[in-house]
Amino acid sequence: MQFDFSHQFAEEELPPVAVKRIGVFGCSGSIGKQTLEVIRLYPNLFKATVLTAHSNHDLLINQALEFNPEIVVISDTTKYNVVKEALSGKGIKVMAGDPGLVEAAASDAYDLMMAAIVGFAGLKPTIKAVEKGKTIALANKETLVVAGDVVMKLAAEKGVSIIPVDSEHSAIFQCLVGEQSNPIEKIILTASGGPFVGKKPNYLVNVKREHAIQHPNWSMGAKISIDSSTLMNKGLEMIEAKWLFNLTPSQIEVVIHPQSIIHSMVQFKDNSIKAQMGLPDMKLPIQYAMTYPRRLQNEYPRFNFAKSAVLNFDPPDIKTFRNLGLAITALHKGGNLPCIMNAANELAVYGFLKNRVGFLDMTEVIERTMAEIPFIEQPSLEDYFNCDAEARNFAASLINL
Ligand code: NDP
Ligand code: MG
Repeated sequence: MQFDFSHQFAEEELPPVAVKRIGVFGCSGSIGKQTLEVIRLYPNLFKATVLTAHSNHDLLINQALEFNPEIVVISDTTKYNVVKEALSGKGIKVMAGDPGLVEAAASDAYDLMMAAIVGFAGLKPTIKAVEKGKTIALANKETLVVAGDVVMKLAAEKGVSIIPVDSEHSAIFQCLVGEQSNPIEKIILTASGGPFVGKKPNYLVNVKREHAIQHPNWSMGAKISIDSSTLMNKGLEMIEAKWLFNLTPSQIEVVIHPQSIIHSMVQFKDNSIKAQMGLPDMKLPIQYAMTYPRRLQNEYPRFNFAKSAVLNFDPPDIKTFRNLGLAITALHKGGNLPCIMNAANELAVYGFLKNRVGFLDMTEVIERTMAEIPFIEQPSLEDYFNCDAEARNFAASLINL
């Protein structure tokens, strides 16, 4: 076999990127808005044909007027009338509530779902999209944390590609391109460590919403920003990686890398390690998930090695950031425990954002809920929905929500 890397391909010599109709589920959020930025950059390749938001009806209306999708869903039903009225006469189908989300997910109006709803709420529409054979660009990690076995099995049955958007998983996915016949020894998920890296409990006990929400490297939605500050985000990502890449818990390692330049790594059986690097910008993994296997030219700022000569790596401090320890327990034990943990975490983060629970108390809420709700070794999808509801009720009772 001969390899010739010298030829510079002209765009027209390359296999074309298939033109895609994108369903942006969670268009008013951080990932959703960045997805629309990518769509704006390549108007000949992508069209936003489904837009869904929960509460931000003003933004949804503006986005719908700009992108002229076929379907718009406002999942907070109290906002339905105002959205419907604002878009009347535009030829856009407007739907509401969770049934609207599921109907939109089942529709023929789009080819690729950008799954960018936050939390458990993303699970049902994503499952519907998989059932319908859509390609999934997965940002909503909670979908795999809660029901990874069900979702991956269904995707395999339907021949559906689930392309990760989470930057760490996109990095691993990119490292694995061309490596199908080479088994993975382990993966190394990098974590920035969040805003409190190096801090101890006596500091964390006084942390407030405004501190925790400020991530040093990434600008993200409120929930994932808090999850990053407690390291729960990395725990969720370990479980997400287990399902995406079919790994055992012992094959998944975490390293703190405060600069967020290496987005994650794969170590192969020959002891070679591949890393994917770049400036922290979610538009890259979003774009890659939409154009895979092609890479498209863009003008985003480039990383300069000479200006950022130092990259640091440290083990995570699981004694201080106990949420990561709880997630590792859930990863190892499996069954419905990750689902219970996820529900309790969503409630705890909500309580923290509302100043109802302290920073360290979030861990107590999660730990007690994990101990309370009965363990099921091989849950069905229905079991997951029931456990989620039970865990939410119990966690809510702990924080008087
Ligand atoms: P945001 O909070 O910024 O956005 C969440 C989106 O989900 C919004 O469109 C919101 O609507 C919608 N939403 C909220 N609640 C519901 C509900 N009950 N039903 C339907 N829709 C709902 O989150 P992010 O964009 O930061 O994150 C989205 C997902 O992507 C999360 O799972 C996160 O973990 C993951 N992710 C995010 C990254 C990032 O950089 N932001 C990086 C990697 C993964 P509205 O605002 O109108 O209420
Ligand atoms: Mg991530």
